[in-house]
Amino acid sequence: EANEKESLYLVSEFAKSYFHETLLNTEEGKAIGLSYFKERGFTNETIAKFGLGYSPESWDAFTKEALAKGYQLEFLEKVGLTITREDGKHFDRFKGRVMFPIQSLSGRNLGFGGRILTNDKKAAKYLNSPESDLYHKSKILYGIFHAKQAIAKQNNCYLVEGYTDVIQLHQAGIENVVASSGTALTPDQIRLINRLTKNITVLFDGDAAGLRASVRGIDLILEEGMNVKVCTFPDGDDPDSFARKNSYEDLVNYLENNAKDFIQFKASLLMNEAHNDPIKKADLIRDMVVSISKIPDRIKREIYIQETARIMDISEQVLLNTLAQMVQKDI
Ligand code: ATP
Ligand code: MN
Ligand code: MN
Ligand code: MN
Repeated sequence: EANEKESLYLVSEFAKSYFHETLLNTEEGKAIGLSYFKERGFTNETIAKFGLGYSPESWDAFTKEALAKGYQLEFLEKVGLTITREDGKHFDRFKGRVMFPIQSLSGRNLGFGGRILTNDKKAAKYLNSPESDLYHKSKILYGIFHAKQAIAKQNNCYLVEGYTDVIQLHQAGIENVVASSGTALTPDQIRLINRLTKNITVLFDGDAAGLRASVRGIDLILEEGMNVKVCTFPDGDDPDSFARKNSYEDLVNYLENNAKDFIQFKASLLMNEAHNDPIKKADLIRDMVVSISKIPDRIKREIYIQETARIMDISEQVLLNTLAQMVQKDI
């Protein structure tokens, strides 16, 4: 119901300002949250722009304050900010975390990502709002509100993995950037970008882990008829850490020199894996052709067949035959 949804927005927006105020104006927020963000190199301007916040180390400080301000428990629970235990006690979902508000395309607050402040490998680093009538993880891209104008203007969208990558790139002067926030890209997320540009450049963390799996998700972008480039970072770096270590000029040059066409990138990546093993190579050729078969434009497919044949050192005919088996229509 429309009225209820509006109430959820109001609760969510109250929480955003509560966490932001707690960060800036309480002793705990300043000592723990603000100093954390400062250590990561975020300026006051950046903290204000993204509405960054801090949730106090307390069982129920937020919930108490919200109830005292007249927000209803029902709505606090529905957006996942308050959890009610079986014994009836209410407590806060986010405790002792720095807070990243997640906004819609039009700038309304939908939910939060909260990061722990330690680098404790055992604890989950990020905790996100649960699915609700406002927050649908699969339909949201972090940063879209702040990026939309730049995406349209630059006619390109950088897609990164994390919240801090978006924020650090903005601060460095690159504003056409959004994050999938660690989940596999979905068709809804791709369509959100597709409304603004046909061009995506995916920036992968340089941790190599999961590169092959992430690369698989890119077929979805091809299916939407978009042009995809990918760029990886040096081992151990992600866009955030790389942007901090380099000047704006070096960052822009790096992106320009290292963004590769996705099909070429994937063909090279697979070739490195095959090590001239013919059986492996046969599998990889099929994997390649699956990607190419997703491209709606026939002429583009033909060009990519030629490219892939060259990179994988096989005949175009082999690729065309494999493709013909996959795409019955339009060939
Ligand atoms: P940081 O620089 O703060 O360590 P990051 O963004 O580089 O964070 P990654 O480990 O690269 O973190 O993960 C990318 C994104 O995946 C995160 O920004 C977050 O949205 C999501 N993510 C990571 N770990 C978790 C987790 N344990 N639970 C839920 N989401 C997570
Ligand atoms: Mn990563
Ligand atoms: Mn990082
Ligand atoms: Mn990262």
